[in-house]
Amino acid sequence: MSPLQDSYARVIDYLRISVTDKCNLRCIYCMPSDGIAPVRHSDILSYEEIIRVAAVAVRLGVRKIRLTGGEPLVRKNLAFLISSLRAIPGIDDLSLTTNGILLGQHARTLADAGLDRVNVSIDSLRPDRYREITRGGDLEAVLRGVQAAEKAGLKPLKINMVPMRGLNEDEILDFARITIDTDRHVRFIECMPVGSINFWDAGKYVNTDEIRRIIETLGSLSPVRMRKNGPSKYYRIHRAKGVLGFISALSHHYCGDCNRLRLTADGKLRPCLFSETEIDIRSAIRAGAADDEIERLLRLSIEVKPKGHTLGNSLPLSGSEQLASHAVKRYMSRIGG
Ligand code: SAM
Ligand code: SF4
Repeated sequence: MSPLQDSYARVIDYLRISVTDKCNLRCIYCMPSDGIAPVRHSDILSYEEIIRVAAVAVRLGVRKIRLTGGEPLVRKNLAFLISSLRAIPGIDDLSLTTNGILLGQHARTLADAGLDRVNVSIDSLRPDRYREITRGGDLEAVLRGVQAAEKAGLKPLKINMVPMRGLNEDEILDFARITIDTDRHVRFIECMPVGSINFWDAGKYVNTDEIRRIIETLGSLSPVRMRKNGPSKYYRIHRAKGVLGFISALSHHYCGDCNRLRLTADGKLRPCLFSETEIDIRSAIRAGAADDEIERLLRLSIEVKPKGHTLGNSLPLSGSEQLASHAVKRYMSRIGG
């Protein structure tokens, strides 16, 4: 079958699925301190519904699936979803993004269920600061989770860090050094005006060029060609074992390489993180849609995928008022970051 292409000839082979909007942390850039009102349980897609959408998407050409949230590990019996997805022929890469708090408890079961690898979000390696950024998280638990994941074979383990000025940008080098002696990947994600728009401001935003300049003090960076880069750019510090990644949603328009489609926890197909356009697949499924209809909605969501976002044209901005008109209205935890 020919690969699934959107209106701009981008091959769409990557589906990110938010399995829950709930989370056991309240990271300052992602959620307000008192969290967000949870979506009604009955509005969240069941595992069976997720599996159905995934199976049709794979039939259309999706090869890579990532489970995210919210915090995916707070949803009960995630191993069932993983083993069911693993049973769908055609998925080359099945991964999970997690804050790692519960990873120590679940890593072995997830690996046994067929998970290939995990990305763990860690924004500071200092326990007090980590607690502050996540509003209560226990760094020790996360680091135990990282070790358990590697022991269970969930490799390469990728660490996601969001550098923020005045909060953790002085740890960029500590994170980059992780890649020198270990085969862990470290990915730096530009802070985006999504969800907690009261948090984002130009003063805290650190762009990829600056992050790179800081890291280059450790040695020159050589580009690394990954099997499927998508919008991330990868490099290696001279002689390092691990790889560095940069996700520059704002400073470098990466939309031309975008290969993904999102399924939100409440069952909306979202073709672009930065566009509010969504297609309600849950209602169709619950009204008895056949697989052909699900396929039509998947194709439609790919057809309406925008060429790119325009956020970077107006950022960094001087005030959050101006930003409010550009910021993504839905919380990242609901979209599936
Ligand atoms: N709870 C899981 C976690 O934290 O890894 C999965 C969901 S979280 C929404 C997925 C990723 O989105 C995390 O790496 C997080 O750092 C990132 N993220 C959330 N809000 C963000 C923002 N405003 N800007 C940049 N990255 C963000
Ligand atoms: Fe939760 Fe992940 Fe958002 Fe942090 S980034 S609040 S861990 S969903």
